[in-house]
Amino acid sequence: MAKTDTRDVLATVRQIRELEKAGCEIVRVAVKDFQAASAIKKIKKKIKIPLVADIHFDYRLAIEAVENGADKIRLNPGNIHKEEQIRAVAMAAKRRKIPIRVGINSGSVRFQVSPYRRGTGQAGVRKKDLAGLMVKAALNYIKILEKARFYDIIVSLKASDVLTTIDAYRKFAKSSRYPLHLGITAAGPVSTGLVKSSIGIGALLLESIGDTIRVSLTGHPCEEVVAAKNILQALNLRNFGPEIISCPTCGRCQVDLQGIVARLGSRLEARGSRNVKIAVMGCEVNGPGEAKDADIGVACGRKSGVIFKKGRILYRIKEKEIVTKLLREIRTMDDPSTLLGAGGRR
Ligand code: SF4
Repeated sequence: MAKTDTRDVLATVRQIRELEKAGCEIVRVAVKDFQAASAIKKIKKKIKIPLVADIHFDYRLAIEAVENGADKIRLNPGNIHKEEQIRAVAMAAKRRKIPIRVGINSGSVRFQVSPYRRGTGQAGVRKKDLAGLMVKAALNYIKILEKARFYDIIVSLKASDVLTTIDAYRKFAKSSRYPLHLGITAAGPVSTGLVKSSIGIGALLLESIGDTIRVSLTGHPCEEVVAAKNILQALNLRNFGPEIISCPTCGRCQVDLQGIVARLGSRLEARGSRNVKIAVMGCEVNGPGEAKDADIGVACGRKSGVIFKKGRILYRIKEKEIVTKLLREIRTMDDPSTLLGAGGRR
C-alpha cells in the first residue's frame, strides 16, 4: 500500500514507481476526500500496475474514484453499510467493469457489533466470536451486492490477531467461493509484523486459501513487497530470483560467513540474477550436503571453501575469493554461451 498522501500526486507516483521496481503487482491508495479521488486520474497515467482505491465512511468517494479510473474499490463494511449507498457504488463499478473488495477488518466489526451487546451488559465482542462475526459481516455485505446483480467481488477478513485471521478465512472459504485477499491487519513493526504475516498468510496459502496478498508493516512499503515475495517464494508458489541457503554459523565456522552472505546478496540483487539456489555453508557438518543439493554451493573450511555446482565438486578456493567465484559460476548459468568457449561454439 502506498503510504503517501494521495492528493500529493508527485510523491504518490514516485512511491508507486519505487514499489513497481520492488516487484509490487497491485497497489492501494488511501482516498480520504474528493481531492484524493480525483488525483487517481493523474496518478494512473504515470504508473503501470493496477490501482485500488481504499474507501471508508463516504460511499461518494468510491464513485468518484471509479470515475477517475481506479481499477478496484475497497469498501469497509464497518463504515459504509447503507444498502442504497452500497448499491450506488456497485452500479458505478459495474459500468466500469471493475471489482469491489469487501474489506472486513476486525476493528470495525467489533465497532459495528458493539451496539447489539450494549443491552446485554457485555463489553464488545468476545474474542472467540470475532472470526464468525467477520464472516457473517462479509456474507451479509455480499448479499447486498448480489441483490444489485454485482458479482465481481473479492473479500478480505483481516484481524491483527493471527489465529482469528486464519479462523475467519477458513470459515469463509467453507461457505463461499468468492476470491480472497489475505493479510494480517496492523501486524506491527517489521520484526514482529514479518512473523505474524508469514504465519497467517503462509498457513492459509498452504491450504490453497487466498488469491492476492498484502503484508502490512509499520515501515517502508517496499519492505512489504519484499516480504510478500519471500513468503510466496518460500512456499514455492512463485519464483522471484536467486535464493540463498546459508547456515546460522556456530563455533565450527572458520570464515566470515555473515560477511560472505551479505556481499553475495547485495551483488546478486544489483545484477538481477535469474532463479538459482545458492548454498553458503560454514563447515563440513552440513556444508557438502546442502551445497550438493543447491545449483551452486560452497562448503567452507579453515579460511577457505569448496565450490560445488550441480552436485559436483569444482575446486577449493581461499576465503577472500568465495564471493567472486560463486558469482562467476552463477554467471555461467545465467548465460549458457559462456560455457561454450570463446566463440560460443560447442
Ligand atoms: S554448517 Fe557447520 S558452521 Fe554452519 S551451523 Fe552447521 S555446524 Fe555450524
